[in-house]
Amino acid sequence: MASADDALEPYTPIADIPTIHAALRATFRTGRTAPLAWRQHQLRQLARFLKENKDALAAALHADLRKPLLETTMGEIVPVYERALESAERLEAWCAPEDIREKGREWQLGWGVRVERKAKGVVLIIAPWNYPVVLSLQPLYGAIAAGCCALLKLSELAPHYASFIARNLGKYVDPGCFRVALGGVPEITAILELKWDHIFYTGNGRVARIIATAAARHLTPLTLELGGKSPVIVDASADIARAARRILWGKTTNCGQICVAPDYVLAERAIVPELVAALQATLAEFYPEGALNSASYGRIVSDLHFERLKGLIGRTKGTVVAGGEMRAGERGIAPTVVVNVRAGDALLEGENFGPILPIVTVDSVDDAIEYINEHDHPLVLYLFTTDEATKAKVLERTTSGNACINDTLNQLSLDHLPFGGVGESGYGRQVLYASFANFVYPRGVADIPYEEEPLFAARYAPYKPESVAF
Ligand code: NAD
Repeated sequence: MASADDALEPYTPIADIPTIHAALRATFRTGRTAPLAWRQHQLRQLARFLKENKDALAAALHADLRKPLLETTMGEIVPVYERALESAERLEAWCAPEDIREKGREWQLGWGVRVERKAKGVVLIIAPWNYPVVLSLQPLYGAIAAGCCALLKLSELAPHYASFIARNLGKYVDPGCFRVALGGVPEITAILELKWDHIFYTGNGRVARIIATAAARHLTPLTLELGGKSPVIVDASADIARAARRILWGKTTNCGQICVAPDYVLAERAIVPELVAALQATLAEFYPEGALNSASYGRIVSDLHFERLKGLIGRTKGTVVAGGEMRAGERGIAPTVVVNVRAGDALLEGENFGPILPIVTVDSVDDAIEYINEHDHPLVLYLFTTDEATKAKVLERTTSGNACINDTLNQLSLDHLPFGGVGESGYGRQVLYASFANFVYPRGVADIPYEEEPLFAARYAPYKPESVAF
């Protein structure tokens, strides 16, 4: 077990990047990653890495984000640990060639026809800072399961985590097959010049366009896990007290710095006062000593993001009804609820990605649907209602990567729910099989026996007019 408080690692020298890439390619060609038993061992080693280093990882995430231990353990380490082990368990079933002979025509029944799920090759995983463990090691278990070699580019904004992984991951998983790169824009730019067989990028839409452009030069397939503004509709039938708790849980976890955080609320006019009172009461219950004095509340990742969020609170034309306290030196912003926020407000422009909850009053669920449909497709759509017809209507008339009814974030706890975006919130899916599926391609194989030769007599030259049967 290693400790987290060693010095930060230097960035990967740009001159080394092509060498790392070539070494990964050479290793992949040897076939080392192909045997299922080898992959299963690597997956179990990844799980072992998480278990044996949980304290050091928690310390690293505390240093980077002041992430509370409960959030690191339950939101980051445990899910990846369990899923890496489960991937090892299920690997044989995932990789079993799919025999599709029976789906063919009768005269083809004697052939061997199957779909194999083959490793794409050497892949690149680019991770952000906000959930450093899940967003780097979840794609990694997918790549390991697929039989790929991988380069993991970690975010420079979570340097303690990145340094810890760079120093220690290779003690557990094969360092000839899985490498780590550290750095900022110059390093990633050099990495993107090379040809990768798949790129799995998690981050913002602006950088996604740079990645997609670089990938297009090599026709590299992509997974883009992006963000966006995930709306929350609260209708008049909702259980307001429970809705408030569940919305604020989603908004305060990691200080709202989570791609699936509820971004803003569209609340029916009649329940706005009750909702505001419930949100205020919930905050008092979550943080009796005040959020910024609480060990259960984190911090904003960087001064730049702190200033951005401070600017949003300063520019809003809405009314702050809870929170608003800030501590610049430690990048603390208390959970802040803002009402009377109208279309065009600063808080409704880009993704919030912080602990600010704007509430927009709407006259009806239809108005909420219209507002959502006028904007980019969100990663998640949240809906609080007890009315089945409303559930059906909202799901029918909106587009979002995922939808979650009467809770927030909790869709992520479902191991078998494919997670991902649509439109501006990205494309591709992850978690367990869906993670694995990014890094394999379906190779169709037809094995046609020589004994079938009589079937083909008519296709050879010289052609005979009577052979044209159509
Ligand atoms: P970030 O700044 O850490 O960037 C992510 C990665 O992109 C880093 O590795 C970084 O080095 C790299 N990068 C930065 N600038 C680059 C450039 N010019 N060219 C190439 N690469 C570059 O993280 P971020 O983008 O601030 O992350 C937050 C965003 O990610 C939010 O929009 C959030 O919603 C989204 N997100 C999505 C998911 C998801 O699963 N859909 C999960 C988490 C975060």
